[in-house]
Amino acid sequence: MTAEQAADAPKPKRALVVMAHPDDAEFLCAGTVARLCREGWLVWYCLATSGDKGTKDPDMTRERLAGIREAEQREACRILGCQDVIFLRYPDGWVEPNDELRGQIVRLIRELKPDTVITWDGFRRGFNHNDHRAVGIATYDAVYPASRDPLYYPEHIADGLDWHRVSELLLAGADEPDHFIDIADTFDTKIEALLAHTSQVARDQPRDEWVAGFRRRMREQAEHTGIGFAEAFRRVTLRA
Ligand SMILES: [Zn+2]
Repeated sequence: MTAEQAADAPKPKRALVVMAHPDDAEFLCAGTVARLCREGWLVWYCLATSGDKGTKDPDMTRERLAGIREAEQREACRILGCQDVIFLRYPDGWVEPNDELRGQIVRLIRELKPDTVITWDGFRRGFNHNDHRAVGIATYDAVYPASRDPLYYPEHIADGLDWHRVSELLLAGADEPDHFIDIADTFDTKIEALLAHTSQVARDQPRDEWVAGFRRRMREQAEHTGIGFAEAFRRVTLRA
């Protein structure tokens, strides 16, 4: 490719996935992430916690578990083809949708300039984890209006960052999803990324059995969509 062609080549699109715990994204949207990476998108993860309470082992410490789970998440992201994972390291179970968390997400949006942001649906009515709700709401508020209005967090602008407008928000774990992404071609990669979370996934049964059960559940969930394997979202598009 000549320098001129390179300059004319369309810029790769970008996505930011904001979740509460290691493995959330693999369950909710890893097929979609793998698909975006295959299509040339640049994808980053940001996790509010390092999942430091996700164990029943009485001899485990929070510090050691956080290290294990961060390593598992990095491996899952490597399998999917992501750029990087940013860990905010809030204590597991204590995430709040406050000014500090929102500001950290706004800063990331202004640095990475994603076209699409994927997060938890913080407005889900059914049973859900506190951290999932908190991350969903903080991210929603970071996307609109905070990251696009320069008078929000003006210290970012003083640091040389520009405001940024996200075009699309995909909310996972929604009560009433309206957007289904076909992941048939990346389903095996999703499984491989899920299995990278060895401290969490397929611990009480042989891996083959776990994979077969998960495959069956995913197929059942997607039945009404007419798509063999799908990940489901509530989609919000944001205008200029
Ligand atoms: Zn979680």
